[in-house]
Amino acid sequence: MWDEVWRERAQCRFSSPDAMFVQGAAQHEAKRVCYGCPVRTECLAAALDDQIAFGVWGGKTERERRALLRRRPNVTSWRTVLETAREEHALVSAQTGVELAVRAG
Ligand code: SF4
Repeated sequence: MWDEVWRERAQCRFSSPDAMFVQGAAQHEAKRVCYGCPVRTECLAAALDDQIAFGVWGGKTERERRALLRRRPNVTSWRTVLETAREEHALVSAQTGVELAVRAG
């Protein structure tokens, strides 16, 4: 389920506001904060849809986000793309879980 108030659950809300707006190699350090973030997908979708140019969002540096935007220039809603991908992944995971449970007897 898509979290409409994702900012309230952002892992980085415990960090300094400037921590995600660093440059160069420090961005890779900043990305570590995102790894365990429960709203990473929502955050990335917002950054891509709003074409936010600076900072680490959704575990991606500005350079990585630009690459995504270049790779998929026809996407009009990254939220739709990422939400659909997450739902499909959950469905496959659930099916796999059921199949493994059936096999285990
Ligand atoms: S994914 Fe990263 S930048 Fe986005 S809310 Fe979570 S911790 Fe913050």
